[in-house]
Amino acid sequence: MEVHILRLGHRRDRDKRVTTHIALVGRAFGARGVYISGDRDLAIPESVEKVNNEWGGNFYVEYTENWKHLLRSWDGVKVHLTMYGIPLPEKIDEIKKSRKILVIVGAEKVPGTVYSMSDYNISVGNQPHSEVAALAVFLDRVLEGKVFSIRFDNARREIIPAEKGKKVVKK
Ligand code: SAM
Repeated sequence: MEVHILRLGHRRDRDKRVTTHIALVGRAFGARGVYISGDRDLAIPESVEKVNNEWGGNFYVEYTENWKHLLRSWDGVKVHLTMYGIPLPEKIDEIKKSRKILVIVGAEKVPGTVYSMSDYNISVGNQPHSEVAALAVFLDRVLEGKVFSIRFDNARREIIPAEKGKKVVKK
């Protein structure tokens, strides 16, 4: 199964860190890449590229001018994460049957059409919290803990887990 992310409504000044964290969590938890809709902000692809160069993999960051077109033409399942949705545990088995998933997370108020254009509106608890946390829980459940075993090709550095201190091998 492949999972891609759509980050809706990125605002250059307010969302730089959170959108970067969406990309880093996506990469570390096993998603393929992120489409960003909103302000163009080169800082995000640049910082993800630095991480790819150092720690490996080819997680992509792509701007989309037209998120409606992306949703309409998506050849897989669209899952919108929202606190108003159906609890993830109720739908996880169905969602896991999908071959290709676009998981959608918002920033500011998400347009109403996203709710109708998505195949699933899914909540991670019915309280307002964070798109980063919601994404992490979703990816962990759908990709069954891939975060704990993922290895990236062409990494220049790899961490050797240690009880104390930092062990890093350079390749
Ligand atoms: N107030 C905005 C709205 O009404 O659409 C939501 C803003 S929230 C800070 C940003 C994003 O976090 C949401 O669009 C959603 O993707 C995600 N999110 C926040 N809480 C969530 C929850 N309990 N379950 C799933 N996603 C959540």
